Amino acid sequence: MASQDASNRSHATFDLFIQAPSCEEVMQHFADLCRQLDIDPKDFRNFYTQLKEKLNYWKAKALWSKLDKRASHADYQQGKACTKNKCLVLGAGPCGLRVAIELALLGAQVVVLEKRESFSRNNVLHLWPYTICDLRGLGAKKFYGKFCSGSLDHISIRQLQLILLKVSLLLGVEVNTGVEFQGLIEPSGENGSWMAKLQPRSHPASAFQFDVFISAGGGRFVPDGFKHKELRGKLAIGITANFVNGNTAAEAQVAEISGVARIYNQKFFQELLTETGIDLENIVYYKDDTHYFVMTAKKKSLLKKGVIKQDYSDAEQLLAPENVDHEALCHYAHDAAHFSTGGKLSDLEFAQNHANQPDVAMFDFTCMHRAENASLVRERRGRKLLMGLVGDCLVEPFWPLGTGIARGFMAAFDTAWMVRSWGMGVPHFKVLAERESIYQLLSQTTPENTSKNYAAYSINPKTRYQSVNLSSIQPHQVQNLYDGDKSH
Ligand code: FAD
Repeated sequence: MASQDASNRSHATFDLFIQAPSCEEVMQHFADLCRQLDIDPKDFRNFYTQLKEKLNYWKAKALWSKLDKRASHADYQQGKACTKNKCLVLGAGPCGLRVAIELALLGAQVVVLEKRESFSRNNVLHLWPYTICDLRGLGAKKFYGKFCSGSLDHISIRQLQLILLKVSLLLGVEVNTGVEFQGLIEPSGENGSWMAKLQPRSHPASAFQFDVFISAGGGRFVPDGFKHKELRGKLAIGITANFVNGNTAAEAQVAEISGVARIYNQKFFQELLTETGIDLENIVYYKDDTHYFVMTAKKKSLLKKGVIKQDYSDAEQLLAPENVDHEALCHYAHDAAHFSTGGKLSDLEFAQNHANQPDVAMFDFTCMHRAENASLVRERRGRKLLMGLVGDCLVEPFWPLGTGIARGFMAAFDTAWMVRSWGMGVPHFKVLAERESIYQLLSQTTPENTSKNYAAYSINPKTRYQSVNLSSIQPHQVQNLYDGDKSH
């Protein structure tokens, strides 16, 4: 009877873990589950197998079959391709977690560091068809029943992080929240290896020694050694706004706007301008946990409506917090949302952001960043470290086009492919040359020019890019991506 009770308890905890709506609760229920089943989450190599054996629960089995299917792909060599590798992943954003999952499937030990304690971004991400297929394959619907039902092709950043966090934990990834990465520590002494300087300093993860470092720190986070290029375009001011979704029948009726650009709908934008004084280049509206709007606004109308106080030619000065009237920004975003949904969202009330403020923000897309390279190798005292970038810190996306996750996941797969080669002993210049050859294609990828056989997508670039030449860059061309303290 006692054991029946114990198993009922673990089933209930598993349900709580699957449905947990916040990062903190995911971590809590996961820890409870491990304790109740007496499984050590640090035993990453056996964790998933033990969990499957000990949690004899029909609801879990449907998820195991999805994860088993993914794990059985030949690329992972039955989880043995990278058994010797230890990987540190910086950032538990969607791309950091997505790459962590692939590295775990390759058999590596994976530790993720995330400086935040919670996932708070309501903003909604557009998903290309392949990412929907990919996430379904990881059991997204089991964690989030509403995931891309019908023709929906988007998800809030927060929900996506929650799904990927749960999958990561189940596959034995160690995820540490509330820990900030502050830099690499070079190997010292005879047997020393690469380690990380963390805040808090005494965090147990500061003792982790690794040979692969993946940065998925987002936005403009550039780890030491990498260079960013600035791509300066014409002034582009993005506004995001989230409103409370009461999930009423009336709200459900309101049609989404999956991208109305000025060139396609002059009449709509002209009417918006005439009636409200709001002048936009484009607008997107998605319904998710919130009613989410993203729009690109014209400077002149922002000045006229008092959102921007003073005109400056420099975009940074123009959008500096002290030059923005937050209340006027709220009105601007509210009125644009009201008009574009034909007034059908009657009580538009702002959702709150992480700081308990109305969730509206203005961002500058005038200057986009892109890393010059996707990979580096450092060597100190005979210890090599493979470094890679994924997600926004590799290529910054333009949100209204929704390229963040699509290109971010592509880079996560490409990076996992690189680590696979590293783990299989391919010489480092060859690893770097291949990674850079693939990186050349990333910024040009669109849903049209990538393979339509989504079910066949794997970490192997040939399954995704229609024509990829893995040796378009040769090892002798990437000598600058090796930084060693001795001749090689
Ligand atoms: P992120 O999601 O930014 O994750 C990076 C993670 O690294 C963060 O969790 C961060 O806390 C962590 N981190 C950074 N530095 C450290 C450190 N030193 N130590 C430990 N952890 C660290 N895209 C859209 O398409 N539409 C939107 O409306 C939209 N809104 C956004 C709003 C905000 C405020 C931000 C930051 C991004 C937004 N994006 C939006 C971009 C979108 O979130 C990303 O494209 C997507 O999340 C993939 O990014 P990523 O995983 O590379 O980085």
